[in-house]
Amino acid sequence: GTPYAGDSHVGLVRDDNEDAFLLAPPLFAVADGLGGHQAGEIASALAIDTLLASAPRQADAKALGRAVRRANSAVIQAAETGRGRSGMGTTMTAAMVDGTRIALAHVGDSRAYLLHLGKLEQLTDDHSMVADLVRQGRLTAEEARHHPNRSVITRALGSDPDMLADTFEVQASPGDRLLLATDGLTGLVTDDEIESMLAAAPTPSDAVDTLIDAALDSGGHDNITVVVVDLGRPRSDRAHRPAGGPRWGLRVLWLLALIAVVAAAGWIAHSYARSQAYLIDEGGYVAVYEGVPG
Ligand code: MG
Repeated sequence: GTPYAGDSHVGLVRDDNEDAFLLAPPLFAVADGLGGHQAGEIASALAIDTLLASAPRQADAKALGRAVRRANSAVIQAAETGRGRSGMGTTMTAAMVDGTRIALAHVGDSRAYLLHLGKLEQLTDDHSMVADLVRQGRLTAEEARHHPNRSVITRALGSDPDMLADTFEVQASPGDRLLLATDGLTGLVTDDEIESMLAAAPTPSDAVDTLIDAALDSGGHDNITVVVVDLGRPRSDRAHRPAGGPRWGLRVLWLLALIAVVAAAGWIAHSYARSQAYLIDEGGYVAVYEGVPG
């Protein structure tokens, strides 16, 4: 199967963990709940549950986007009916993996990254005030990291019934690593640090532990959630037949024929006294007949 891992840590400052994550291969997701007083926890958990229940069977970004919209409706409805409270919401970054193809649906400031040949690329755009300012050239990325309004997000699940997720598909390569993370990681650990840790970790599980530890070492101001998926392994498993299959197949056929001949020879030597027999090579199979030809 696909090697993957995920974990969430409350951090060193907060009392509650309002993040949620999903490991349901081929579907993976992280969600960062907002609202406080446990409402954020309800929003992120409900969004993840609804995503799982509504997810498409295939890695189809548009269909995954529709599942995220259903999660949005579920969070809005829950607040209206008194589960959680109004104003609660959640981010959601969801990925569906098919071999090396990734379908993504994304809302908010959690992120998806791809590590390809040791280089980290951010796949998602943050829906946040500071990201807008960076895109407009009014803030540098470094200024955005320390901006007092860095956690103000411009799109989330739970408020606008007409909300749309960003949806897109990415063609990765075998050996690439997919990372989903909430801002409890990316707000505290730089992309360069994430890149080197993700590249150095032998397994997804090691990568998850190393990244969460790094966020804790940097202060752990927020809940930290990390999901890591290694891409392309299932496809190579399926292609486990040695290269040059037909030639390999021929060798097996010859081996079977040889075994049959040896077994037949033994059988013939044993039974020759009792009965006449003959062998016919039938396209690689050796048939042993009793009696005489004809
Ligand atoms: Mg957060």
